[in-house]
Parts: sequence; structure tokens; C-alpha cells
Amino acid sequence: NAVTPTLDPSLPRRFADFDTLVEALEYAAKGLRGANFYNAKGDLISTLTWTEAQKRAQKIGRILAGIGFQPGERIALIAETSADFVCFFLGCQYASVLPVPLPLPTSFGGKNGYVGQLRLQLESCMANGVMAPGFMDDMIAQAAEGTSLRFAGSMADYMDSGKDKDPTLPSADDLAYLQYSSGSTRFPHGVAVTHRSLLSNTRGMGYHGVMLRDEDRCVSWLPFYHDMGLVGTLLTTLTCQMSVDFIPTEEFARRPLSWLRVMSANKGTISYSPTFGFDICTRRAALRKNALEGLDLSTWRVAGVGAEMIRPEVLRGFIETFGPIGFSEKAFLPSYGLAECTLGVSFAEPGKGIEIDLVEEARLAGDRHVLVNGKDGNVRMREVVNCGRPLPEYEIDIRDEDETPLAENHVGRIFIRGTSVMREYYNDPETTRAVLSPEGWLDTGDMGYMKNGDIYIVGRAKDMIIVNGRNHWPQDIEWAAEQIDGVKTGDAAAISVPGENSEEVPMILVQCRHSDPAERAKFIDAMKRHVHKVTGVNCMIELVPPRSLPRTSSGKLSRVKARNEYLSGGLQALAS
Ligand code: ATP
Ligand code: MG
Repeated sequence: NAVTPTLDPSLPRRFADFDTLVEALEYAAKGLRGANFYNAKGDLISTLTWTEAQKRAQKIGRILAGIGFQPGERIALIAETSADFVCFFLGCQYASVLPVPLPLPTSFGGKNGYVGQLRLQLESCMANGVMAPGFMDDMIAQAAEGTSLRFAGSMADYMDSGKDKDPTLPSADDLAYLQYSSGSTRFPHGVAVTHRSLLSNTRGMGYHGVMLRDEDRCVSWLPFYHDMGLVGTLLTTLTCQMSVDFIPTEEFARRPLSWLRVMSANKGTISYSPTFGFDICTRRAALRKNALEGLDLSTWRVAGVGAEMIRPEVLRGFIETFGPIGFSEKAFLPSYGLAECTLGVSFAEPGKGIEIDLVEEARLAGDRHVLVNGKDGNVRMREVVNCGRPLPEYEIDIRDEDETPLAENHVGRIFIRGTSVMREYYNDPETTRAVLSPEGWLDTGDMGYMKNGDIYIVGRAKDMIIVNGRNHWPQDIEWAAEQIDGVKTGDAAAISVPGENSEEVPMILVQCRHSDPAERAKFIDAMKRHVHKVTGVNCMIELVPPRSLPRTSSGKLSRVKARNEYLSGGLQALAS
């Protein structure tokens, strides 16, 4: 049976009010809650109460100390959605060893690419150990060739090692784990997260962000190697003594509606996803007539959305499809966050739904002052989503190119300071210095503005396209391109490439399913004209094969990678 979401009545809720993750786990272990693991059919596969998790973790901590792992050493932890992952991650905490969650091979194109990536990550975090499912033995051996690991193996190998020793427990300012960000803009760096940062952020998210209630129950398909899955669902529920239902990410990818089936069956109240997760469900439901039969989403109180640009039209599509089975439009809760801030930075108010600021595109990209909005039918407008109020621990600055702070309603670079801001990129002082000032200000690389104390995200500074001295946001060009028949969300990537006289020219890479040359030519022509009509930008268009645009392991489109691959010939254009 699933762990029932009843709280031990003698146990008052403490919102991550602890010094370390170990203390948080020991407290949750006194209650009756825990994690359940499901498959894509919605069958319960296993359960792990926090009480069991604590017992297993404590034992793993003794084994790690017995093997000889020292406080501060790193163990790369291949992140399956399983009780083993959870217990091992927590077990590392008991020995003050840093787990480094990394993706499974399934989230990568080919095995070779995966092994290469894994090798770079093992090197960058200077891993002392690896814990991975048994079927990966060969890959791990290949990736770790030439490095000197203290121990590598599966959970069973660790448990069978026969080692045992009193471990060293962590304190608040020790590192708890390393978090690799998605790598959608550059090579991933291990963000170093302390216990203090983690607990401050999970407290902020649980207490101020989604305002957890006693009767809440979380459901998630997000991967554990990504901050939104690890911190947002696993560690926040644990440190706030909640119950949570997990569906493995691969199962969600195969059958997206399993997410909604588990929500419905368990009367889930909180679940998070990037925009694309909501999009996939809407598309799937449209394919099968009886897809929604027997489903009830009326208990869904917080449908958190973030991690990439929030697309209001996709959320409206979701509301239209799932409103009839009880989904409330008020459930959508936009939030903004990044690995460098542990996870969460700002949250819209629960129960309000999405709130949109309609502003002139030209102002977002150039004039910077966005206050004049929503008036003229002739200029191109953009819907910018209100991502809510920063958590109380943070100070936020919007700054211009000279790092001078800007007033509200002015678009600039977002800088953040607070307890949950990372200490460093692990083992990388140079990259750390580039984004973190000695005074503790983090340059997020994101552009946005504040309005009435709420934060609005406009895009990533690196993605901006400059044509004849004018700035354009790629997402606006892509949205126009996606209005052409046969183009789906995520099929287009707008970038700029060097032109004949070394000036930058805008280009759209489009995943194309047409094989007939005449069809392709018509398609290109239609897109060129439409994009020009909507955005005023004259773009070159290159067709690329379906599924060839590079995405991160957490599913985000990477324009920077797409540009590099296109220019280096790795991403080949189709003949047109
Ligand atoms: P890398 O830093 O390795 O290139 P990444 O930035 O995609 O990868 P994450 O830290 O997981 O890795 O993602 C955080 C980023 O996601 C933010 O910096 C921002 O660009 C984007 N993001 C997060 N929330 C939102 C949001 N609500 N709206 C728009 N963008 C968002
Ligand atoms: Mg980033």
C-alpha cells in the first residue's frame, strides 16, 4: 500500500528548520510519511518511508566511512528514480561525503556521447567514487579509465563491502552535494551547495513559496539529477515532512499521461514541470479519445511551472484540455530559479494562476523601459509572465551593462544575493569569479525586470540576437516560426551566424519533416515571410532533420549548442 499522507499528530511541522540535512531526515523519520515509486501504468512499485530511509542512510554512511571515504570527498551518483538513489544520497550525508547526481544514459543520444560526458564530469568534480545501477558497469569502467576511484559499484556492491566505521557528521556550513546545472548554455559546472543554503532554500520554497499545508501531497516525474527534481521535489518534501509520489522520468517520456493518472489516483495537490511537460500532455490527450476517462485533477492546488521560458499559450492549451476534468487555471504557479541559487528564487502567489504583462517587444529588446504597455495594435507585443516575489532571503538587483542598478520596469541583468546563493563552482575559481562578486552578488546571466516587487524574466543574455545594432529575443522569432503549419513547439531555434562581411545575420534552424524539395521550398518561403511580418526581422532559414536540435538532459533547447554545432558542421542542414 502507498504511504498514507497522515502526519504523526505528536509531531509539529517544521519547515526545513534544521542545521543539516541529517537533522532534517532524523526529524522526518519520527513521522509517518515518505516516498512512493510508480511505473507508467500508475502501479505502485515500492515505498520508502522517511523512517526506513533514515535507517538505510545511516548504515550507508557507516559503510562509506568504512571504505575510507573522507569528509568532503565526492561520489558520482547516477540518478535513477529509485529508493536506492534516495538512500544513497542521504547516506553520503551521514559520512559528510558529497554526492554528485548525474543523468542516466537514457537521457542522452548515444552511449559514446554519454561516456564522454560522464568522464568530463568525473574529472571536473574529481570524483573519488561512483554509485551506479549494475547494468552500467562497463560504461563506468570506460568513463573512469585512468582516474583513481576509491570505490565504484552498484548499491549491492557497496552493501556487500563488509566495511563499517563511525562516520563524521556534517555541520551547517559544510557542503552537502554538488549540483550540475542543465548545461543549456555552456559546459556544466558543479554548483557547490551547503547544508545552510539547502535548508534556507527548502524552507523558503515550502513555507513562503508554495505555502505547504498539512494535507498536501506532491507528485513528480522530474529527474533527480536536475535541481528542480532533486531540491524541488525530493529534498523539499523531506525537509518539510511531506509525502511524495515519484514516476521515473523515462516512464513519463514514454507515457506522459501517467503523470496525471498518479495525480488523480492519489489526489495529488502539488506538482511541478517546465512548460514542455504540460505541452506534451495536451498533445497526448488530443491523440486518444478516451485518454482522460476516469481522471480527476480537481485536487491539484499548485501546478508549478518554471525552469525555462514560460509560454502562456501552452498553459492555456493545458487548461482547455484538462479543465473539463477538474484542473483549475488558478493552480498554475510560475516560479523562477537556478542551480546557482540552490533552486528557487521567486514564486507567484499560490491560487492566483498566471498573470501576464503585455509589453512591446521593441522595449524588451532595446528601450529597456517597459512601463508603457498593451496599447497599440500595430506594434509587436509579448506576453511576459509574472514570476512572483523573491523569497525573503534574497536581495535582487536589475542592472545595466555598467552594473548600475535600474529602477522598476526597466529590463536589465538579474543579480541575486542571499543565503542560498552558491559558494562556488566546485574546483573552478576562474568561472566562479566571473559570476560571483566578493560581496556575494551572483550574476545570473538572465535578463528581466521588476514590477511592483515581482520579477519578470525576459530571456538569457547570451541568447540575444543583434541585427544592425538592434536587439531581438530568439523566442519571439521562434514563436513566429512555430505558427507555420507542421512546426511544433521546440522545432525552431533562432540564432545568429557570421555573414559574408563578418556581420552577424539572423538564422532559424527548423526541424523539418517534409522530404519533397518543392514542399521544402514552399515551407521556407512561407516561414520567411511570416517571421518578417510578425517580427520585422529578415531571417535565413536552414532545415535540419527531426530531433536534431540539441537539448539538455533535462529537455531544454540549447541555442548556444545549436549554433556551435551548426557552425562546426556537426548539425547538418537538409538540402532545400
Ligand atoms: P547552464 O547554466 O548549465 O547553462 P541552465 O541555466 O539551463 O544550464 P538551470 O540552473 O537548471 O540550468 O536552469 C536555470 C535557468 O533556467 C535560469 O537561469 C533561467 O535562464 C531559466 N529559467 C528558470 N526559471 C525560469 C522562468 N520562470 N522563466 C524563464 N526562464 C527561467
Ligand atoms: Mg544556468
